Amino acid sequence: PRDMLGNRVNSQGLLWSDPPRAEPLLAEMKKSLERLPLAAPIIGGREKADLPAPVTDPSDRTRVIGQVALAGPAEAKEALDLAYKAQGDWDRLGGDGRAKILEHAADLFEQNRASLMALIVREGGKTLPTAISELREAVDFLRYYASEARKNFAPQAMPGPTGESNELTLHGKGVFACISPWNFPLAIFTGQVAGALAAGNAVLAKPAAPTPLIAAAAVRLLHQAGVPVDVLHLLPGSGSKIGAAIFPDPRLAGIVLTGSTEAATVINRALAARDGPIATVIAETGGQNAMIVDSTALPEQVARDAVTSAFDSAGQRCSALRVLFLQDDVADKMLDMVLGAADELRLGDPFDLATDVGPVINESARETLEQHAEKMTRQAKLLKKLPLRPEHKNGVFFPPHVFAIESISVLEREVFGPILHVVRYSAGHLDKVCEAINATGYGLTLGIHTRIESTAAFIRDRVKVGNVYVNRNQIGAVVGVQPFGGEGLSGTGPKAGGPHYLQRMALERTFTVNTT
Ligand code: GLU
Repeated sequence: PRDMLGNRVNSQGLLWSDPPRAEPLLAEMKKSLERLPLAAPIIGGREKADLPAPVTDPSDRTRVIGQVALAGPAEAKEALDLAYKAQGDWDRLGGDGRAKILEHAADLFEQNRASLMALIVREGGKTLPTAISELREAVDFLRYYASEARKNFAPQAMPGPTGESNELTLHGKGVFACISPWNFPLAIFTGQVAGALAAGNAVLAKPAAPTPLIAAAAVRLLHQAGVPVDVLHLLPGSGSKIGAAIFPDPRLAGIVLTGSTEAATVINRALAARDGPIATVIAETGGQNAMIVDSTALPEQVARDAVTSAFDSAGQRCSALRVLFLQDDVADKMLDMVLGAADELRLGDPFDLATDVGPVINESARETLEQHAEKMTRQAKLLKKLPLRPEHKNGVFFPPHVFAIESISVLEREVFGPILHVVRYSAGHLDKVCEAINATGYGLTLGIHTRIESTAAFIRDRVKVGNVYVNRNQIGAVVGVQPFGGEGLSGTGPKAGGPHYLQRMALERTFTVNTT
């Protein structure tokens, strides 16, 4: 899709409130779930379905939605052998050749949106509006990185002395392992893979353990679009076992990870300890994201944006709001509205259009949240906890919670889910608020609610974060519009969906010819 001037445009959404449009899609999604898909290691295009185990729905563990067979060290090594051999031809195809294939994949993703979205909802536990946003984001990553490859990977003539021609070219670095998270099982999976492929690399894709089915569906579509089967492999399985098999191998040029700060540290150490070329590590990790609200902010807007930022996707976004800072002279009024808006949230089956908050991803995620809530109940003040009802009993539900805390410093690490903390601050202490946020060491997203431009600028110039949003929610970064990623404990950069992403996965060569 292009606009009137021929520029790339992002993909289209859907008006869920328009039944003639929404109902056929919902029917198609339901129908697609009648098949029980299989996720197996896909190596050289062959699917190795040994000993499959059931995959169940986090909103109802009695519902089996497919099966998964895991890759072990032998499969990981075989995939690395094939990928290493195939990467040269893929690189020689050039930016334009690779872009055409990725654009074809984007079209196939759109044509298959019902089955992809159904898996996002049933395997990832994500609500219908977030499922379509996620499908769109995946499609946008494919088209955006395709256009970046076409634009930047064409040979560039460098001006030089007479009697000499000079050219600079960009190339894939080799084989990348893409290690993706379960919270965006299609969008981030596809973004990492599409970025590495666009830059001319071969890819070993390691999907998060809870969401292999959707990753397998994406890989099949990428192969169907023309990505050679030896250039892209899928390795569902244990991260530590697959990592132990491939990280020491000098043929692995780099890894792209979206996950916890702890996982990024472990991987960085493993790669640093090996002999051979220095590996590239691109990590997008956690956050301890704040929103700062001053006395000029509009209460209705604050309520809407705080609740969306904290509880959309059951708070399972790296970008999600964790700590709401309210200026104390308006705090009571703001808080009443925030808690009132939180009360209206409906916790339930994500396939139901009325649901705002679905399940969390699995039992261990829920346990971590329960432990944090217990600790906060002892140490801080519980302001709100939505009720669990009998219909939630088969699923992994954790209801939205709001706590009042003294300071952001009581939170030791990111807790990934629907728990919002509220801190009051006094007028005139904005600099201290900024310092306290920086002291967490994380730097991913920041929300600011104020009607005073100089206040927004004051905060922006002090808080060290990657994505700042003023007078709106702080989630849902759009590809090519809000390149996404943080600093400090939140990641290495470059930002996903931004103009520098492919360069980090590429190397440069010059070619000089004496023409006299
Ligand atoms: N890009 C997503 C957003 O802006 C968050 C990605 C993540 O959770 O890793 O909400």
